[in-house]
Amino acid sequence: MSSQHTTHSSSHSELPTVVVLGTGGTIASSGAVASQLSDYKVGQGVDALINAVPELQTIAQFKYEQISNIESFLINDEVLLKLARHVNDWLAKPEVSGVVITHGTDTLEETAYFLNLVVQSDKPVVLVGAMRPATAISADGPLNLYHAVVVAVNPQSVGRGVMVVMNDRILAARYVIKGHTTGVDAFIVPEQGALGAVSGRNVQYFNQATRLHTTSSALHIAPSLKALPAVDIVYDFQGAGVHMYEAALHAGAQGIVLAGTGNGSLSGVAQAGATLAAAKHVAFVRSTRVGQGSVRPSVKDTQFNCVAAQSLNPQKARVLLRLALLKTQDREALQQIFNEY
Ligand code: ASP
Repeated sequence: MSSQHTTHSSSHSELPTVVVLGTGGTIASSGAVASQLSDYKVGQGVDALINAVPELQTIAQFKYEQISNIESFLINDEVLLKLARHVNDWLAKPEVSGVVITHGTDTLEETAYFLNLVVQSDKPVVLVGAMRPATAISADGPLNLYHAVVVAVNPQSVGRGVMVVMNDRILAARYVIKGHTTGVDAFIVPEQGALGAVSGRNVQYFNQATRLHTTSSALHIAPSLKALPAVDIVYDFQGAGVHMYEAALHAGAQGIVLAGTGNGSLSGVAQAGATLAAAKHVAFVRSTRVGQGSVRPSVKDTQFNCVAAQSLNPQKARVLLRLALLKTQDREALQQIFNEY
């Protein structure tokens, strides 16, 4: 399949134009039988996903592009940067109302937050996936995709930052997490709540996205950028050793995110890791393995050259740190970025 296509079936010129970018994931997967809910294979093209939902043609006309067709844990900097650049390019076209991205669910929250920081448009960007393959009994992908397009064409969706639509909910990229391994209700925002809900053609918003995003974000990817700074995540636990920090530094990490215990606690070993990082001028962000709540700045941060992740989980703190390191390595400036984004 070449990289860019326009569907033939939707030329209703009065309908808004939505660009669907396919990246792979369970939504594009097939199993051998309808009861197969794991070990299925990614491979359906984005055109097949659109064509599987004929009702889509009544709400928009489509352009589509296959960015990749892989499981989302395989998304690397090359794919991520390509995706972000293509989203920005499509949204710059006056005839395009919004972009929908089909994506694997495993790392969907990372891509969504990355785009939330680097997309330079107010137009809706909606990520969508599925927890069950396209061939499954009660596959969730088709309705999720329909709902994602409904949200993308809704005028109220403008200016809300990048959103995730799964299981009838509209969730802000900044806060959404995958909170279940298999359930169709896997995507949640436990603390701040959903931005809104979607059911059929009805969209209802009841929350505003907070913190800087899209057009208010100053975190950009330069056209020449080929890779983002390397940042590793180190998990803390009873009996943890300093060797994980040493390995990250040895491998050339420019930043380390601590998936710390409790309130981003600096345990003895985390203090040792932070001290090693500081000696190499490597940024060190304290997040938490807990899953809810914020890690706030602490008096120890100055002593150990740490930055508090606020309410970002480790994988999202890593996304922000990689983009922030393109601008600064200064601890206080990094903390300011974590306070605002
Ligand atoms: N199991 C994953 C999914 O739900 C695979 C992936 O993230 O691509 O899409």
